[in-house]
Amino acid sequence: MPPIFPSSTFAHGNPEGFDYTRSGNPNFRILESVLTSIEDCNYASVFASGVSAITAIASCLKSGDLVLCEENLYGCTVRLFEKVFHHFGVKTAWLDFTDESSFKSIEAQKAAMIWLESPTNPLLKIIDLQKVCNSANKQHIPVVVDNTFATPLLQRPLELGATLSLASTTKYINGHSDALGGVVCTNELEWQNKMSFAQKSLGLQPSPFECWLITRGIKTLPLRLERQVKNAASIANLLAKHSSIKWVRYPFREDHPQNKVALKQMNAGGAIVTANLKGDQAQTYAFCKRLNFFTMAESLGGVESLVCHPATMTHASVSSEVKSHLGIDNSLVRFSVGCEDLSDLSKDLTKALDQLQ
Ligand SMILES: *Cc1c(COP(=O)(O)O)cnc(C)c1O
Repeated sequence: MPPIFPSSTFAHGNPEGFDYTRSGNPNFRILESVLTSIEDCNYASVFASGVSAITAIASCLKSGDLVLCEENLYGCTVRLFEKVFHHFGVKTAWLDFTDESSFKSIEAQKAAMIWLESPTNPLLKIIDLQKVCNSANKQHIPVVVDNTFATPLLQRPLELGATLSLASTTKYINGHSDALGGVVCTNELEWQNKMSFAQKSLGLQPSPFECWLITRGIKTLPLRLERQVKNAASIANLLAKHSSIKWVRYPFREDHPQNKVALKQMNAGGAIVTANLKGDQAQTYAFCKRLNFFTMAESLGGVESLVCHPATMTHASVSSEVKSHLGIDNSLVRFSVGCEDLSDLSKDLTKALDQLQ
């Protein structure tokens, strides 16, 4: 293992050219080289969190620019555009990118950027990344893909034509719920220069210790994901068969609305499962609380299973019209499936579902 370099300042004239940690540190470089390797790209820049990575990209926009956003983006991305960058004159339009007519918007509107996420949170909508990138690339519009849910092991946005692939490394990439981090990957030197400029000029840099932890976490990413995906696929099937469930959403199940696209662009269905229960808000909430092996918590991607009730947790501040437009109702539950023994997870779920009836 590499050591941790907590140094804030470096002796002038050192061979690697480090001067001050805000603009570079050996632990950033080590993590960036590992992330470049797993994404199979030219450049990666690490940040203090996923939101810092998003901020770095958004800071490259200027007043009057229009961003065409997938309408189901991660909540903090929406908040950043609407409550912060809006004040700087950055405009947004929200589109359903699973709907082919949204592609006409790409042609009709002079957009400065397209912002996608696939699978989305919490409904696991799958966007045909290659199709959107093809339309955008014809008009030289950069495409950003938030790849947090899939990770580069399951999906490679840059290979599908995206300009920037970002991830919250807090989630699967670190995988142990003990560090925050973000990354932006690209093959274009011009964008890489913008990202390293944003890292130091906006103060978005991570801490050396967290980079060290994430570097350690990545060593087991393939092992963890293999187990988590296997558990998640089994749990999706178990839930689908239970009479207390209205419907289940999992990208690699045939009943997923964009299953064909998922099979085309992903190596596996991921480890998030979303389900709609036959119960009202109180019953759904009580179901979440009854589970023993799924801690009721926000976030995802760690080795321990979590359950989230979006209506009262991650999406509590979203207006009821927007929630119903996005398909988030009071009976919706999102599972982040961990590495535990599958029979423990299955028994736990079955018992809590049986009690719903
Ligand atoms: C968590 C998350 C983020 C934000 O990352 P932080 O590390 O929490 O700042 C961005 N996008 C998605 C899809 C996420 O799940």
